Amino acid sequence: MRFRSLCRHAEIGANSYVLDSGDARVVLDAGMHPKHEAFEAIPHFEQLEDGSVDAVVVTHAHLDHIGSLPVLLEQQPQARTFFTPAAADLGFAMLHNSVNVMQAKRTELGIAEYPLFSHRQLDDIERTIETRATERPFDLDPDRVFRATFHDAGHVLGSVAVTLKADGHTLLYSGDVNFENSTLIKGALLPEDPVDTLVIETTRGDSPRPDGYSRGDEERRFADTIAATLKSGGGVLIPVFAMGKTQEVLTMLHLFKRRGWIPMRTPIVIGGLSTKMTVIYDRYGKGLTRRTDDEFRILKDMDLRAGTRRRKAAIVPEPGTIFCLSSGMMTENTVSNGFARSGFLENKKNSLLFVGYADPESPAGSIRAAAAGETVILDPKHPPATLRAKVEVFDFSGHATRDDLLDYILKVKPRRAFLVHGDRPASEWFARQLAEKLPATEAIIPEPGVDYELG
Ligand SMILES: [Zn+2]
Ligand SMILES: [Zn+2]
Repeated sequence: MRFRSLCRHAEIGANSYVLDSGDARVVLDAGMHPKHEAFEAIPHFEQLEDGSVDAVVVTHAHLDHIGSLPVLLEQQPQARTFFTPAAADLGFAMLHNSVNVMQAKRTELGIAEYPLFSHRQLDDIERTIETRATERPFDLDPDRVFRATFHDAGHVLGSVAVTLKADGHTLLYSGDVNFENSTLIKGALLPEDPVDTLVIETTRGDSPRPDGYSRGDEERRFADTIAATLKSGGGVLIPVFAMGKTQEVLTMLHLFKRRGWIPMRTPIVIGGLSTKMTVIYDRYGKGLTRRTDDEFRILKDMDLRAGTRRRKAAIVPEPGTIFCLSSGMMTENTVSNGFARSGFLENKKNSLLFVGYADPESPAGSIRAAAAGETVILDPKHPPATLRAKVEVFDFSGHATRDDLLDYILKVKPRRAFLVHGDRPASEWFARQLAEKLPATEAIIPEPGVDYELG
């Protein structure tokens, strides 16, 4: 059996890996790199001969795992494609939005290859995909060489890790994983039996959690900051990823109101792609996914004001109101970017609260690096804004801490561990830890395009 990373850039980005037994070939994830454009954002699919892939497994609906699936399937139309039901629903909504984003970039940036696929193509693909539940083994290829089992990965709704068995070899691919319970969904349930090969994410390898961190204290600090802003007559902007973080933050705000931490009547506005993704989240309740509260439905139980999806009707700042708007990194042409430019940042009564990762080169990254009174460029097509609003960062990551990941690796004692989905210093932290604590394990940061024989 051979393993190869198809990633064009060996860091967080366009995740895609291939497993080849000699008799069958399986691709794990087909991501699109968020920081590159066109073919530079696509994994090395040209390394797979046309028509050679038996199956594709998609672990969850974030674009760095699913974004280039239609490009892969155009070259590999025979491949069966497997998702959990929730990941499929969320994933196709993300991909349709991606077509719209690419169409806009074609016009604005003149990228002639865009869109890389069409709405029509997505509809055709959606009719052929297959969904599978967690903990129910299934065959991946017609000759039944590979057998797969999904495990709940606790990262976003429908996210899974996958065990693959072939030729007496067991490989577990973590996808993105979170072992702790979030406010809305429960933490991962991964098997702890020994495996031959582990392919594991290393996102937070270079960012240890601060001493004394507790999720409860962080929630309280978040609530108190919101309450203080509302009381002083300001508004609160929380830029959020449309899928996962939006629903997580909304559920938190619901609990804050019920606990009396923020006023019950505070209006909450959502907008952009978030509304569509929240509708899908609400569909997967009791029995379908592991949620902390089976009965709670975001849109039914919260009195939200959903911004219309028509771009023209812009959402404008108002005092005493919480705005949960995508995108999380405040990318140009998204609702959170336009909102921040409409006078929000200039008002010192307002608060801008970050709840997740922001690339330093993104508009959100620029704001986080700026001091009060400095000007920031949110969109080069528009005048810069002067930062007077209060800016705070909170840690509600959907990724496991490095200590949790390391504990997991120590439990399953793989013969070989591929350290993926992390910047170099993050993967290297794991390599050093494993060299010391699990010397019999071969720890590898896989080079893109290189075959690793698994034996
Ligand atoms: Zn993810
Ligand atoms: Zn990811």
